[in-house]
Amino acid sequence: MGRVIDISGKVALVTGGTRGIGKAIAVALKEAGATVYITGTNEEKTKAVAREIGVNGLKMNVCDREEVKEKVALIVEKEGKIDILVNNAGITRDTLFMRMKDEDWDSVIDTNLNGVYNVTRQVIPVMMKKRSGCVVNISSVVGFTGNPGQVNYSATKSALIGFTKSLAKEVASRGIRVNTVAPGYITTDMTEKIPEKVKEALVKSIPMRREGEPSEIADTVLFLVSDMASYITGTTIHVNGGLF
Ligand code: NDP
Repeated sequence: MGRVIDISGKVALVTGGTRGIGKAIAVALKEAGATVYITGTNEEKTKAVAREIGVNGLKMNVCDREEVKEKVALIVEKEGKIDILVNNAGITRDTLFMRMKDEDWDSVIDTNLNGVYNVTRQVIPVMMKKRSGCVVNISSVVGFTGNPGQVNYSATKSALIGFTKSLAKEVASRGIRVNTVAPGYITTDMTEKIPEKVKEALVKSIPMRREGEPSEIADTVLFLVSDMASYITGTTIHVNGGLF
C-alpha cells in the first residue's frame, strides 16, 4: 500500500454534520481512523445520521452558548480531549441588500460567525491543555469574491479569514494549527436552492465546468488535520475548480 493518512486515536468534532459537506467531512475523518462527533439542531435527526455513518451524534445548536458549553464538556468528559474541530455549520438567507430583513442579517451572523466563536471558545482551552490541536473553519469563495444577494453570508465568510489568521498567531506556540477551507460551488442542499438557470451560468463560469462534491472538501480537511500539514497554519485552501 502507498502512503495513507492515518489519524487513529484523534477525537474530532464536526459542527453541522447531518448532511452535505459536514457529513462528508465526518465520514472522511472516521474512515481515516478518528473518533468523530457530529452535531445538528435536531436531536433525532443528528443521532439518526450519526448511526448511519458510524459516528457519534449530539444536538448542539452553535448559536446556543449554554448548549455548546454543555456538549463540549460532555465530549471532553467521555474522550478526555478534542484534537480536531471543524467549524462547518452554516446557513444562507439570500436576498438583495435593499430587501434584507434584520432577521436575515442577524440569523446568518449568529450561525456562521458567532457560532464559530461559541464553539471555538470552548474547544481551544481543551487543546491548550494538551498543547496540540487543529481547527478548520469552512469559509466560502464568496467571502473572497463577493456575490450579489449574499451580503450577509459573504460578510461572515470573509470574517472567518481574519478570525483564522489571528487565532492561528495566538495559539501556534501551543501546538495548535488553525486554517480555513474555502469551497466553491459544491452540490448540497444549500446549492439546491439556486435556480436551475443561475446554476447553469455558474457552472459555465467554473474553469473545470462542474460543481464540486462534498467529498472533495472533506479530503482537503483531512489533509489539513493530518501530520502532512504539520507546518501549515493561518492560511486558506481554495477548493473551487479554478473559479478563484
Ligand atoms: P447544508 O445546508 O447542506 O448543511 C448545513 C449543516 O449545518 C447541516 O448539517 C445543519 O444541521 C447545520 N446547521 C445549520 N445551522 C446550525 C446551527 N445553528 N447549529 C448547528 N448546526 C447547524 O450546507 P453545506 O453542506 O452546503 O455547507 C456546509 C458549510 O460549507 C457551510 O458553512 C457553508 O456556508 C459552506 N459552504 C458551502 C458551499 C456549497 O456550495 N454548498 C460553498 C461554500 C461554503 P441541521 O439542519 O441538521 O440542524
